Amino acid sequence: MKAARLYGYGQPFVIEEVPTPTIGEGEVLVKVEGAGFCHSDIHILDGELRLIPKFPHTLGHENAGVVAQVGRGVKAVKEGDPVVVYGGWGCGYCRQCVMGHEQLCIQPQWVGISEHQGGYAEYLRVPSERYLVKLSKLAPREAAPLADAALTPYRAVKRALPYLYADGWALVIGIGGLGQFGVKLLRALSGIRIIAVDIDDHKLELARQHGADVVFNSTKQPDLAQAIMDLTRGEGVQAVFDFVGSEQTLALSIGVAANGSKVTQLGLAGGTARLKVLENSRFEVVYEFTLWGNLQELREVVALVESGRVSPIPVEFYPLEQINEVYTKLKAGQIAGRAVITPSPA
Ligand SMILES: [Zn+2]
Ligand SMILES: [Zn+2]
Repeated sequence: MKAARLYGYGQPFVIEEVPTPTIGEGEVLVKVEGAGFCHSDIHILDGELRLIPKFPHTLGHENAGVVAQVGRGVKAVKEGDPVVVYGGWGCGYCRQCVMGHEQLCIQPQWVGISEHQGGYAEYLRVPSERYLVKLSKLAPREAAPLADAALTPYRAVKRALPYLYADGWALVIGIGGLGQFGVKLLRALSGIRIIAVDIDDHKLELARQHGADVVFNSTKQPDLAQAIMDLTRGEGVQAVFDFVGSEQTLALSIGVAANGSKVTQLGLAGGTARLKVLENSRFEVVYEFTLWGNLQELREVVALVESGRVSPIPVEFYPLEQINEVYTKLKAGQIAGRAVITPSPA
């Protein structure tokens, strides 16, 4: 089969022929019709996130496709079933795995970001049927972004629900693929008013369409923190979702967080969250870096989108051969929603 493989940090993907994975008992082979290209892939390629245990390696942790083959004992899915692949694989035995939060496993075995090969290939070996969520309406390539771009903000919004007062404000920073789902999910799951911040007017327009009440272009707003404090009549916001995670965005997040609020970081741009009460932070501000989502949350996200209660974000499709162009485009901010690689077109 064809796969896009990495031979080291700082190097482009190499498209090459590799053996199609073989599966054993309880395992499933998925024909990958869609693999979303994530911003964390850029951090990995650039060597900022050094998570790959051994090269060459196939990335791709946001996968969907059709079941191509099932191993002995597999009962929940059969050949031909359209599925989304949950990617936060764990050991199945540690505390967080047992509690159902496999993505927080003490020895993570995430698809595409561990020794397990990812979905930038025609076929993907999935170690257990329980990682597959069946699709009833969406085409797999349309559904691929649900496995991360929707799942990650879904967990963050769900965990912040107690802070989402209908008469308050939530701040969403960074309106890429995850940020757009963040706005949509806040709108679907709560009555809170939403402020969206980005450096790109086109993305802010999308945020408006997805349900943001107020948008700010941070490059055109000399004192953004003050503008947000004014908007909230000096109180600050009840919840922040920082999809960037730079020094600058984290300082803004903490600086405008109200007394008794929650700051959630999701982006990995390398900043440090500094909270010092009576200096840059108000009181009882909770900070959390949420990680991806769990299997049940993925089932919920798929249900929300398949039922039409949350609409998908804009998606662009690219053949495997164009994966290096996708890297360049995403890095330059030229992907409006999500770029999905289609290794095995339907
Ligand atoms: Zn990702
Ligand atoms: Zn575990």
